Amino acid sequence: MTYEELAQRHSDINGFESAEWEGWYHIEDKMFSGIKSVLDKYSIPLQQFVLEQEKEKFGELRTYWCWFCDDNPDDYNKARQEISAVIDNASTESAKTCCYCGEPATLQSRGWILPYCQACAEEQEDYPTGFTTNFM
Ligand SMILES: [Zn+2]
Repeated sequence: MTYEELAQRHSDINGFESAEWEGWYHIEDKMFSGIKSVLDKYSIPLQQFVLEQEKEKFGELRTYWCWFCDDNPDDYNKARQEISAVIDNASTESAKTCCYCGEPATLQSRGWILPYCQACAEEQEDYPTGFTTNFM
């Protein structure tokens, strides 16, 4: 999946953005679709969901969001829990997925922590000293 495909599918989300790691676009796609499913389930308008920030931190996806309006019915709390679960799953999956190509990650870069598959790690200038295997 390309950034353009991801944006096309989810630019209807308030504040849409991506962490912009190519290998993770399919994870973000699944996450945003999952969030929309939860909103649908509780008949919550998409506009109530506001994406505050989507980024990479310590080698995984981090997603920050809020409701557009805080004065909400109880259903919103149930929806919040389910959305948190969707986001946690995406975060866990990203930590085990090569940030460049989307293959399962077997290595992690030192310094700026990111998950890599063997092939993508070998393309980096500081391979092998810049990588560690014992991260999972
Ligand atoms: Zn890779």
